[in-house]
Amino acid sequence: MNDIRDNIRRVQNEIIRAARRAGRDPAAVRIVAVSKGVPPDGIRKAQAAGLNAFGENRVQEFVKKCREIGGEVEWHFVGHVQRNKVKYLVGLVNLIHSLDRWDLAVELNRWALKKGRVFDTLIQVNVAREPFKHGLYEEEVPDFLPAVAQLPGVRVRGLMTMAPYVEDPEDARPVFRRLRELSRKYRDVADISLEFLSMGMTQDFTVAVEEGANMVRIGTAIFGPRQCQGGGVV
Ligand SMILES: *Cc1c(COP(=O)(O)O)cnc(C)c1O
Repeated sequence: MNDIRDNIRRVQNEIIRAARRAGRDPAAVRIVAVSKGVPPDGIRKAQAAGLNAFGENRVQEFVKKCREIGGEVEWHFVGHVQRNKVKYLVGLVNLIHSLDRWDLAVELNRWALKKGRVFDTLIQVNVAREPFKHGLYEEEVPDFLPAVAQLPGVRVRGLMTMAPYVEDPEDARPVFRRLRELSRKYRDVADISLEFLSMGMTQDFTVAVEEGANMVRIGTAIFGPRQCQGGGVV
C-alpha cells in the first residue's frame, strides 16, 4: 500500500513517455484508477498522490465506497451494468464507461429523468469481436449513436474498449487504433462529440496512449495485484 504513490509516479512517467513518442500532449491523458477490490484507504492514498478519478465495476462495492469517500473524487463505472442496478448509480456516478446495449440506454434514461439528472456515458465497443465480451460490434455503432441521442437523460461522451488479453501488448495495438478510427468516423453523428477515448489497462496502456487514448483505466499497476480477480468478493 505504501508504494501506491511510487506506482502512480511510474505510471505517470510511462504515460508521459508514450505520449511523447506519439507526439501527443501527456496532459491530455487522464488516469482512471480502477479501485475495485481496493479498500477506501488505498483510494485515499491515491487521492493524496494526485489522482481524482476512480473506477469501480461492481455496483454494491461502488455505492459503499461512494458513501465512505464521497463526492470529492470523480467516480467512474467501468463494469457491466445490469438494468436493475441503474437506480443505485443515478446521481453518484460521473461517467459510465460501459454502455453496451439499447435496453440499458433506455433504463439509464428513465432513471435520469426521474431524478432530474443526465447520465454521461461511453459506448463500449467489442472491437476484437470476442464472443464472451460485452460491447457493441462496430457495425452497430452508427445506428446506436443517433438512437441514444434521442434520449434526453443519456449523453454519450466517447468510446471505450477492452483489448483482448495478449502476451505482447503490441498485439493489442490494432484494436486501439480501430477504436480511434471509429471515434473519428462517428464523431459528428447526431451532434454527439466523441471526446473521450477510454482504452488501455495495466497490461497495455502505453500502447493505448500511443494510439490516442485520453482515458486509461489502470488498476494493478497502481494498487498491486487483486486478491481474487473475478471472484465473488472483490
Ligand atoms: C479491472 C478493470 C480495469 C483495470 O485492470 P488492470 O489490469 O488491473 O489495470 C480496466 N478496465 C476494466 C473494465 C476493468 O474491469
